[in-house]
Amino acid sequence: MNYRQDTIAAIATAPGNGGIGIVRISGPDAERILGQVFVPAGGPKETTESHRMIYGSLTDGSETVDECMAVLMRAPRSYTREDVAEIQLHGGSYVVNRALGLCLEKGARLAEPGEFTRRAFLNGRVDLSRAEAVMEMITARGEQEHKAAVRQLNGGASSFIRGFADELADLQAGLAACIDYPEEISDEEGAGTLSEGLKRLISRLEGAMDEHASRLIHEGLQVALFGRPNVGKSSLLNALLGEDRAIVTDIPGTTRDTVCGEMMIDGIRVILTDTAGIRDTEDPVEKIGVERSEKARQQADTALLIIDGSEGLTGEDLELIREYEEPGAIVINKSDLPTAISEDEIRKIRPEAVCFTVCAKEPESLKPILDYLRQFAEVSDRIALTQPRHLDAARRAVSHMKDALATLENYTPDVAATDLQAAQKALGEITGENADEKLLDRVFSRFCVGK
Ligand code: GDP
Repeated sequence: MNYRQDTIAAIATAPGNGGIGIVRISGPDAERILGQVFVPAGGPKETTESHRMIYGSLTDGSETVDECMAVLMRAPRSYTREDVAEIQLHGGSYVVNRALGLCLEKGARLAEPGEFTRRAFLNGRVDLSRAEAVMEMITARGEQEHKAAVRQLNGGASSFIRGFADELADLQAGLAACIDYPEEISDEEGAGTLSEGLKRLISRLEGAMDEHASRLIHEGLQVALFGRPNVGKSSLLNALLGEDRAIVTDIPGTTRDTVCGEMMIDGIRVILTDTAGIRDTEDPVEKIGVERSEKARQQADTALLIIDGSEGLTGEDLELIREYEEPGAIVINKSDLPTAISEDEIRKIRPEAVCFTVCAKEPESLKPILDYLRQFAEVSDRIALTQPRHLDAARRAVSHMKDALATLENYTPDVAATDLQAAQKALGEITGENADEKLLDRVFSRFCVGK
């Protein structure tokens, strides 16, 4: 989609009934269209003032459709840097759709997803990373995801990348000098200084890439609950979530598939997966459940092996305790019943095991589990690259820089120069300096219509 100088319109609020619904118009005809669908209570002159909310009504030319408020924001002091008009209506889907229909009848085109923000980017109001942060802000599900969006919206990633790209450009200039005046800088001397500089830049960029934080922020902390049937996995999941998510019965094998639930720890989403009870089974459906449970365990950041403390350790329990390798803890459940297993007994089998004794029926007893999970949910507040698209571009930049380093060490500076250009191009994708249409389509297709 090319940037067109036409006027676009869309509903900016979520579908369904609500207190208010907003229709937004942007482009050279925004003022004219507003003038044709909106009648200010104080007469037509009122709408000519920019950035002033005006009371009036929406009209289809013969009848009043709704009582509403409208505001005109003249370019360049607007979200898109174009003339923008917004009409605030009663938030019923009929009314809001009717208002949009009237704007389209008067000549606006229905906006594509993210087209308002795309115009803000193309008109130089924000760079690509900051434009993306708008959507990150809208879709943030937890405090840490929101904080990352704020850092990005405030230009954290952009300013780091710009500064870094400048330093890389200095290094490229040094390399160009080596290529142009080989007699002035001996190959060995020039290549040596450049290699050192490049190594420093690579480690700086790698140091700014926080893959772990990115996964925690965007995908959450994955925690698997596993153990043989009937030890209380579903009960613990429900107790940790504070809701009845998994089905609890005393018939072994009730949880035939994985059941997930989410909670928050320190602003990070924690996704608990109650896996099917692990046991040898011939039942084909249960078998699939057990396979999924193995997979959930392997993909989890940490796992909790649940043991029924009211029964002695069974052969299956012993096998799970011995095999169990991932970072995680062993939870002895059902502490309200006469106990048949102690933490010491488990430590005799696995001396390094982290153990807790709890009762799924007493939520207070679960606090040590929450404290244990907290250590996996830590994200530092430092400015770092955590957005998946930025990380992908930074990874490619690092790889090109490493290629350049290898070629420099082979005294082929002209090949290194090409690698460094490729690294600059990858970095430019983050801020959008050399973004092509395809990249912009990819970024803005994730947006909602009306933003
Ligand atoms: P799962 O198969 O491992 O998911 O086990 P469930 O959560 O379905 O629980 C199996 C049975 O143990 C149910 O009857 C639960 O009510 C019971 N149960 C679970 N946790 C406790 C507990 O802490 N104390 C007692 N007394 N019973 C529990």
